[in-house]
Amino acid sequence: MMSVGVPRSLGFFYLHPLYRTFLGELGVQWTESPHTSESDLERLDLCPTDEPCVAVKAAFVHVDRLLRKGCRKIFIPAVVSLSGTSYCCPKMMGLPAMLKAAFGLSDDEFISPVIDMRDDPKGWPRTWISAGRRLGVSSEVRAKRALQEAIRAWREHEHLSVLSGRFIWDTAVMGHSYILQDVFGRRLVERVSDYGSVVTAENVSKEDAEAALRGIYEAERLWTIEARILGAALHLVRSGKVNRLIFVSAFSCGPASIIENYVAKEAGDRGIPLLNLAVDEHSGEAGLLTRIEAFMDSTRVPAPGGHGPALTGGELGGPGDGAPAAGRPSVPAISREVDTGPIGLVDMGNLRYALRSLFAEMGAEAVMPPPLTEDIVRLGKEIAPEFICYPMVTLIGQMRKHAEDGVRKIVMIQGKGKCRLGWYAQVMEEILRKSGYPVRVLSVDSPFPLSQKWGLFVESYRALSGGAHFTKGLRGFRMALTKIAASDRAVDVLRDIRAYEAERGAGDRRFARFLRELDEARSPKEVKAVFGDYCRDMRRIPRLQVDPLRVAIVGEVYVVNEPFVNKDAERILGSLEQRVRVYRTLDVTSWVDYHLFKLPRAVRQYNRVVKCAEPYLPVHVGGHGQESVGETVLAKTLGMDGVIHLFPFTCMPEIIAQNILVKVSSDLDIPVLSLMISEQTGVAGLETRFEAFCDLLEGRRKRSSANEA
Ligand code: SF4
Repeated sequence: MMSVGVPRSLGFFYLHPLYRTFLGELGVQWTESPHTSESDLERLDLCPTDEPCVAVKAAFVHVDRLLRKGCRKIFIPAVVSLSGTSYCCPKMMGLPAMLKAAFGLSDDEFISPVIDMRDDPKGWPRTWISAGRRLGVSSEVRAKRALQEAIRAWREHEHLSVLSGRFIWDTAVMGHSYILQDVFGRRLVERVSDYGSVVTAENVSKEDAEAALRGIYEAERLWTIEARILGAALHLVRSGKVNRLIFVSAFSCGPASIIENYVAKEAGDRGIPLLNLAVDEHSGEAGLLTRIEAFMDSTRVPAPGGHGPALTGGELGGPGDGAPAAGRPSVPAISREVDTGPIGLVDMGNLRYALRSLFAEMGAEAVMPPPLTEDIVRLGKEIAPEFICYPMVTLIGQMRKHAEDGVRKIVMIQGKGKCRLGWYAQVMEEILRKSGYPVRVLSVDSPFPLSQKWGLFVESYRALSGGAHFTKGLRGFRMALTKIAASDRAVDVLRDIRAYEAERGAGDRRFARFLRELDEARSPKEVKAVFGDYCRDMRRIPRLQVDPLRVAIVGEVYVVNEPFVNKDAERILGSLEQRVRVYRTLDVTSWVDYHLFKLPRAVRQYNRVVKCAEPYLPVHVGGHGQESVGETVLAKTLGMDGVIHLFPFTCMPEIIAQNILVKVSSDLDIPVLSLMISEQTGVAGLETRFEAFCDLLEGRRKRSSANEA
């Protein structure tokens, strides 16, 4: 009898009624892995990379255990979205692909149907019917019925844990079920309940949680499970149903780094003691319990019906937890009306030149982004949530500098997708205001699809342009796009000259002059002339007859495009002893062409990259995670010697890509150097890693040409 293994991880904790009913209705025998044990925490190195959160790493132990137990098939759905408006955490989407890659399982051994109620409401059930077939049930009717029964069982179960009625609980413990009900958090909840009654997110009805979220802009697009946790916390705090709150999350949990800001603000505004706990395999239980006991003892709960005394403070978590501090700066309410103050800009790479032209053409006063420096990073790090992805640290640092210089309105280009970028503007505004800066952070999203987004885009345009006539906006936009295209093409000319120039640095000096002239250009015609002069001069730079190493750079859009953040990685590679020709397709032009205009050639290139990724990562996990995998597969086809994968601290989509690239690299025999970038990343360390990597590539070349000889 074929035995199917079902790992008890992530989605299982929310969807087990669905999984069990589906398999049961199909008459499939299955084995569920037991809860994670203490000893399992010593085997988390089964996960090929260290960056994923502990909840994801534990899943590798569960699959390993099931395979050792003789399970010939592993069943774990890819949970993309559980509602029509929002997604799940990218890691929940990418986990099945990470597990399949790590254990080298075939399509027949690894059954991973998709749940995607947002982007593929009609198509996702088909993946369950094909899963049924691969589980030995050829009847489509039976599989369809099994899925319907499974969804019904899941919906019913959702309400089972809800406790309705006018309860007042001693403590709310908010966090993911797979943290609180597993080895990471179970003991914590037990210890808190020694002090009194405990309520968790599952005990609050979906309706109450959703109602509590209504004050948050586009709350319906928050990650589904985390929205439930946040809504439950806000409901309990606002309705006075709890006396204190403990927010438990996995170390470096992406969604938690966003929702914790709202929890902290509400608890702070209502004087509810809050303890923020991050858990991982290194967090000793004793230490966590001591923190809990200190918190519980110092926030004694009064007789039923009232809140606890003021806090003693020591027990509170790290930066950004919004603990009620009497000294919290009072910031005047923001007027949503258009005002004429200057607009603060933040940037990425050479975007600043395009932005200056855009605002100049609109006749709007713009304040250029403060240049990125260690000081700007410090300003950001001081107020940014601990586990937020690194781009927010540098961006909020620039915003804080603007605010200190008196700028009151700052613009941020972003769109709500699967990763945290979509929440940057409103969370950064929240954090800056909590830190005493009366600023407004405007987010500008793509106007497409026009049917849904045109109105919002016009509102943003009015707020940014001070009501300038749209023809001015169009002229500004055209000038901005011209400068973006020229600077991206100029960078690629520079990459080429760096690989061949006889005198090192000659290309960089000419490029620096190009950027100054580009900034002064006042019309597309002038931009064209500046670019033409630049290319003519670059062609005149004496070149050596060399065969440079061909290295592709892939990764997260901000990190690969912002030299300050990636420590000018391309210049380092371009100045190594070995000659290196860097290739990179992810730049502002390609982003605009695909994400904004959906230009046919950009769509064709995107589909080609996704096709390459699909055997390894079949679902889009947000950001450029899937593209990083596809670009690496493509790099092999294009004859690259190696790939450098750059991504920011705690970036969810790229942590998934990094994990899967281990398999891609060995399957395709292409060296991949994955580097997570944060404020800790140093130039010297990067140089050493690049030198060693290029030595490796050179060694491989010599060996393969020796073998061919
Ligand atoms: S990052 Fe957070 S939400 Fe995502 S899987 Fe890990 S613990 Fe869950």
